[in-house]
Amino acid sequence: MLTNSLHELDRQHLIHPVSSFRGHEARGVRVLRSAKGATLTDDTGRELLDGFAGLWCVNAGYGHESIVEAAAEQMRRLPYATGYFDLGSEPPIRLAAALAERAPGDLNHVYFTLGGSDAVDSTIRFVRYYWHARGQADRDQFISVEQGYHGSTTMGAGLTALPGFHDGFGVPYAWQHKISSHYLYRNPLGDDPQAVIAASVAELRAKVDEIGADRVAAFYVEPIQGSGGVLVPPPGWLKAMRDLCAELGILFIADEVITGFGRTGPIFACADEGIVPDLLTCAKGLTSGYVPMGAVLMSDHVYQVIAEGAGARAIGHGFTYSAHPVSAAVALEVLALYEGGIFENGIRAGKRLMAGLETLRDHPLVGDVRGRGMLAALELVTDKAKKTPLPADMQPATRLFDRAWEQGLVIRSFAQGIFGYAPPLCCTEAEIDEIVARTRRVLDLTL
Ligand code: PLP
Repeated sequence: MLTNSLHELDRQHLIHPVSSFRGHEARGVRVLRSAKGATLTDDTGRELLDGFAGLWCVNAGYGHESIVEAAAEQMRRLPYATGYFDLGSEPPIRLAAALAERAPGDLNHVYFTLGGSDAVDSTIRFVRYYWHARGQADRDQFISVEQGYHGSTTMGAGLTALPGFHDGFGVPYAWQHKISSHYLYRNPLGDDPQAVIAASVAELRAKVDEIGADRVAAFYVEPIQGSGGVLVPPPGWLKAMRDLCAELGILFIADEVITGFGRTGPIFACADEGIVPDLLTCAKGLTSGYVPMGAVLMSDHVYQVIAEGAGARAIGHGFTYSAHPVSAAVALEVLALYEGGIFENGIRAGKRLMAGLETLRDHPLVGDVRGRGMLAALELVTDKAKKTPLPADMQPATRLFDRAWEQGLVIRSFAQGIFGYAPPLCCTEAEIDEIVARTRRVLDLTL
């Protein structure tokens, strides 16, 4: 029977994403009521520091009135316009031009989606279409990287290489292949960058040979692996993989759903290594999480091949809410705020965050500290020399998350005993220091 309690209604009716249904029924929901800057307030009035920008998305921080105004103004004027039938509206046109201007190289064409998963899914369709158009329809095999996350759609979940997204779902499909992650902290080759890069290059080459050089369509990679545990490749790794794909004639897709929009410093992390992918996916920071939106950025070359291949025929891929004018109006205002000082603040705050987390290396539980900019992680171990993971009963993500919550800190706690950080880029120095101080208290309580 229904009751008025929000907590009870949640338990009875709301299915939470990536949750254990039974676990959630037992624990119940934590209701957030409001937020400002990097501070969240729950329904008991308790304040918490958001060390994870929601779900690595609220890069600009909470409570920007100008974003609310941009959405309201667009809703008043024109809440919806389809892109079908050669129709359109002003905000997505201006946003596409703004992204093309800022994106690396010739990523001059933009296809808007509702989020990251359908952006990745769209790339799979565009890649298939591209190879059909080039008369090489047999290039239907895709390669991605272990520990990678590329969303939860039926096809994207198979490019994802985290078992929890496969078990019980019948993915990956036979056309979805993987190579090992660089995962420096646990790489059997050690953390010598050149050895790790050489091994990844050799493995991708061998995988392409095994599948057949004329069968491979594309290689997918996150510039920093996010949901796999914030795994930062050695400098030069991304460029080496990009160069190899160019040599082998395989499309190179950079999934910047997390790393985009200042998370590592520049607007896109590909700029950290000066590379230009054939296709780039982004979402999250695009609208700073205020409304849903994602995008595929497409190079001139891929665009021209698809355009020529289709000729006068319509390319049958589209969503009712592609290029939504309200989402685009929000994204334009978010971009203005980023460039009005938030990106710059994020670069300063990122240096302070990394320096602060480095001070935790002396803690007996901290095996690894890694990250770039405002994207970071600690990996906890019980024996630093042997890199022994936390015992299973201490590992469950919910327990570490709970301890941080008790200290007034929201972080992402991964099942492997990894703490992930992705604070809003607007964080003050005091807030960054507080994130680090509260983390130390959580670690002390976990000892
Ligand atoms: N790709 C990457 C690299 C991601 O991290 C995510 C989400 O975290 C996605 C794709 C899926 O994005 P969304 O959750 O917006 O569908």
